[in-house]
Amino acid sequence: MKEGYFTIPDDPAAVPNVVVSKCRDCGEHFFPKRLVCAKCLSRRLDAVEVPARGTLYSYTWVYMPLFGSMRIEHMDGYGVGQIDLPEGPRVQLPLAGKKDDYRVGISLVGEVEPLREDAGRDVCILRFRPAGSAA
Ligand SMILES: [Zn+2]
Repeated sequence: MKEGYFTIPDDPAAVPNVVVSKCRDCGEHFFPKRLVCAKCLSRRLDAVEVPARGTLYSYTWVYMPLFGSMRIEHMDGYGVGQIDLPEGPRVQLPLAGKKDDYRVGISLVGEVEPLREDAGRDVCILRFRPAGSAA
């Protein structure tokens, strides 16, 4: 995961934004960001922010500790979901909580999770959880 693919809101309760590319010519959105539109081959793409929320398309559970995480909740494995954003792109990002919390087709919202402190700086990831559940 690269830096700059999401933004951290000032309000911790707010939904973070995902940074996507929007084609100026055909209006298509892409994630991760790209330089050339996959639909019309235009190079006029703008980075735009869209709220991290969408519908779960599919998911898998990985039974190994989340890379780089020192937190005990990650030691039992973690989920990775493919989430369809309303704007069109399908993003692949970690899922919070347990496998039983997820079903294909449910609504998800993004949240920023600090993984660990790195030289005094929080390393955060963007992950998704079921909409309406407690963080
Ligand atoms: Zn285009």
